[in-house]
Amino acid sequence: SISSIDLNNLSPIQVFIRIKPNNPNDENETIPFKYSKNNTTLTLPNSPSMSFDNIFPPESTQNDLFDSISSLLHFPLYGYNSTIFAYGQTNSGKTYTMLGPNGKLSLNIDLMGIIPRTSRYLFAAIHKLTSSSSSSSIQYQVRVSYFEVYNARVYDLLNKKSHSLNIREDNQGNINVANAVEIPVDNSLELENVLMQGNEKRRTAFTSMNSSSSRSHALLILWIERRERSTSTSREYKSYLGRLNLIDLAGSEDISRSKVEGDRFREAVNINTELLQLRRVLDALSSSPSYIPYRDSTLTRLLQSSLSTRQSITILISHISSLNIDLYESVNTLKYSEIAK
Ligand code: ADP
Ligand code: MG
Repeated sequence: SISSIDLNNLSPIQVFIRIKPNNPNDENETIPFKYSKNNTTLTLPNSPSMSFDNIFPPESTQNDLFDSISSLLHFPLYGYNSTIFAYGQTNSGKTYTMLGPNGKLSLNIDLMGIIPRTSRYLFAAIHKLTSSSSSSSIQYQVRVSYFEVYNARVYDLLNKKSHSLNIREDNQGNINVANAVEIPVDNSLELENVLMQGNEKRRTAFTSMNSSSSRSHALLILWIERRERSTSTSREYKSYLGRLNLIDLAGSEDISRSKVEGDRFREAVNINTELLQLRRVLDALSSSPSYIPYRDSTLTRLLQSSLSTRQSITILISHISSLNIDLYESVNTLKYSEIAK
């Protein structure tokens, strides 16, 4: 039952580091990282070691990663919130982690990323929870929203119209996207079709701007509504709304090192601001949540209602490469990921 889930023993923000394997025909020098046996500390040459909740070395698989997050997927089935962020420079493996190789849904089960695995896992869990005879009084409905945050504006990837949407607060104090599309899905195939439809819209929009989708944040939201009868004979249902956010963040690279101008410069400034504010929010949530600066960026404002409660678990999966040419960005990513506990 709902009350049997205890979030109090879990830290609200967990940080994972994933190290991308090198391409066999890559001739670049690699950095001799060291990690502790239990994969919780990482040490760069001539530097103090850094601690994280879990480190995934280059040889770790999609399955290894999913095993470490799947327990967290149960919370939204009981009305709580979970959020997974993929963070790191462009080309570090964020989309590989969230979706699969080459930004596509992989036909190879072993290579599937978090989103298709989650989709299968959730519907299997729902089937189990609703099919046993003792649980005939439990019903679930899953709905999907899919947004993109670009230049501090929110776009609905499931709506044919291309204008940006406003963020508003409803009379219960929840922060929502005005007029957002929510598509009900009954199985993982339907969910994957919705996802692909949104990805196609995202890709074509960036192609027409001569930019890349790695310049925006993609936010997939699964709304999971659970309805249960208070007693087996009761006609009244209690309803709980859980929310799972699966977020592929924009590339974190420091663009001031390359001399971009115009639209590309504006993109970069907005990305830096959004990611910095996200870090400030995660830090505040993790340490002393008396004041949390949600309002300072579009992404954090969009997530406010699902991150703010005590009934929420978040995992930041930070991606680094072990190539020497990426050292500057990898160090930045590791520093970003050292969230105070
Ligand atoms: P990002 O989304 O951070 O820009 P991608 O996920 O697109 O990066 O990864 C860049 C390339 O590296 C892709 O071709 C992807 O398939 C490959 N790749 C990333 N991570 C891994 C991994 N853990 N194992 C094998 N290939 C990977
Ligand atoms: Mg990507």
